[in-house]
Amino acid sequence: MKIGVLALQGAVAEHIRSINLAGGEGVAVKRTEQLDELDGLIIPGGESTTIGKLMRKYGFMEAVRDFAGKGKPLFGTCAGLIVLAERLESGEEAHLGLMNMTVARNAFGRQRESFETELDVKGIETPLRAVFIRAPLIKEVGGNVEVLSAYKDEIVAAKQDNLLVSSFHPELTDDYRLHGLFLDMARQAR
Ligand code: GLN
Repeated sequence: MKIGVLALQGAVAEHIRSINLAGGEGVAVKRTEQLDELDGLIIPGGESTTIGKLMRKYGFMEAVRDFAGKGKPLFGTCAGLIVLAERLESGEEAHLGLMNMTVARNAFGRQRESFETELDVKGIETPLRAVFIRAPLIKEVGGNVEVLSAYKDEIVAAKQDNLLVSSFHPELTDDYRLHGLFLDMARQAR
């Protein structure tokens, strides 16, 4: 499975490494033409406003919506989750607006800006090590969004058809099982 990592801004190399460890082939994506050859696309963590701005500038909004419209899977982590959301709690304009959820940015406040924890994730047998960095939270989900994980009663991972999101950074540990789950989604889509 060839999985692209949107390489406009953010944690790209780490995702490529995790995809490769999970048995796929990770590639950095800088041009929309590259999407044609991919089985799935990851939108990484970074700064969602910057990623959104660059996606608009380089034609990725249309191209990624088309890609997802064909049933190909998208995986948004941290800022990538924000980019996928239909609604932002702050009232800011949504970016891709594909996933039926309301997201709060930087939802942990100053005290807990960055931390690590173990999380139970649906579809993964034993707890997953999760790194949170100025992370968003999913405040509300609608339609057929399936909640995959919660931290202190707040939603931190979810799935809607071919869309997967996590508030945390699964690419910053050696535990690549969430990338494995995404590879399974790509296999099914094919
Ligand atoms: N705080 C960032 C944002 O709101 C997300 C942080 C991250 O991706 N680690 O875009």
